[in-house]
Order: sequence, then C-alpha cells, then structure tokens
Amino acid sequence: MKLTVLGCWGAYPEAGEATSGYLLQTGRHKVLLDCGSGVLANLWKHVSHEQIDAVFISHFHHDHTADLGCLLYASKFAFAFKKRTKPLPVYASNQPGRFKELTFGEYSNGIEIKPDAVLNLDGLKISFAPTVHDAYNLAMKFEYAGKVLVYTGDLGPASDLSRFEGGADLLITESSLYAHETGLFQGHLTSVEAASLAKQLGAKALLLSHFPHIGETANLAAEASRCYAGKIYLAKTNLTVEF
Ligand SMILES: [Zn+2]
Ligand SMILES: [Zn+2]
Repeated sequence: MKLTVLGCWGAYPEAGEATSGYLLQTGRHKVLLDCGSGVLANLWKHVSHEQIDAVFISHFHHDHTADLGCLLYASKFAFAFKKRTKPLPVYASNQPGRFKELTFGEYSNGIEIKPDAVLNLDGLKISFAPTVHDAYNLAMKFEYAGKVLVYTGDLGPASDLSRFEGGADLLITESSLYAHETGLFQGHLTSVEAASLAKQLGAKALLLSHFPHIGETANLAAEASRCYAGKIYLAKTNLTVEF
C-alpha cells in the first residue's frame, strides 16, 4: 500500500495548503479518503481524477468535503471527454441533507456506508467504526494483500475503535490539540491521545494529521513519542508512506 497526504490541516487550510485528504494506492486501486479544501489541486500532482476508483468520506464537515463538488464536476468532464464511462462511486454515511450531494447525474454515485458493513472492492477489504465527534464520523480500516491501513477521520478520546485492534501497519489519526489542551475542543484528540490510540490498536506506525493553526506542529510528534514507541510521521503535503 502507498499512502500520500494531500491535505493535513483541521478546519481550514493554511496558505497554499489543504485540509483533510489522502490518496491510497495499491497495485490495483486508487482511492481518495476525504476531499477537503485544496485537496484536488494536490491530487493532480499524483494521479488524474479519471484514475480514481472510489472516494470515501469520513463525515460531512467542510474540511473533509469542501472539494467534493468540484471533483464531481471533473467527473462530468471526464465523461464528456470519454475518459470515464462509469459513475464515480462516493461512499459515505447517509446523513440527511448531505448524502444526496454525492450523486451528480450519471457522473457519480453516492453509496451509503452502514457502520457494520464489510466491503470488498476488487480485493480491497474495508470495514468501519463510528467515532465520537460532533458530526457522525466513520473510521475506516483498509486491508489489502496482508497490509492494513486505519484512517480515523475526526474523533474524540471516548471513541471505541477496539474492532480495529490487532496491528495496523499505518494509523492515520488526528492531532487537533497539543498535550496540554486536553478537552479544549470536544470530539478531537490531543497528540498524547492520538499516541494512546496507536498503542491500543497495536499500530506499527502513526501518521499525525488534522493540525491546529497555532503552535509548532513538530511538538505534536514530540509529545506523542513520549507514550508511543512506534514510528511517528508528521503529515505534510505530498508525504508518501509505503508499507
Ligand atoms: Zn475535521
Ligand atoms: Zn469534523
């Protein structure tokens, strides 16, 4: 599996940057995880949108969906230029007032995720777990050829991700808060809480992302390393991790 960071800021992007978005590639798949503000401009640096097999949306906050409408327009153009012949599948939970946005004519197809579903997309197995957040959020586990990626989306420390225990090769989770800010914003993790989650899941590596707009983000990794012994990556646009 190859994971590329397309955006790593929480809530809104910094200058020239993007909010949540990640490109997951296997030998057979190119899957977009979340599509926040600025994500598409970074996606083009790695793959064409016509190559995307599926999109997974963790939840309907704007920092995870802001570029989705433009992606669906791109899908329409791909049809017009005969570069895509099947609708782009966009997976998300069925949230009233938002889910219908995922289906755009014949160009994209919104597909509801039930939290207990186990999907199999041409050998890529995907399962889900709801988290504690102020919008309904689904964490996701991707398994392919013996490798495992867990992407949490947004979550507070009371979330139960025990169904994902057992040694992910990479955990992408949020670190919206510094260690001393415990509980400042409900429904988000501090660096130390992110590290505790990595430890609980037995993750071999931790990618911290969804950053705050104050302080030195390098401190998030330093704080996490005090309670997690695995490899820690600090998200950065275009960072690619292969496992
Ligand atoms: Zn967010
Ligand atoms: Zn959120």
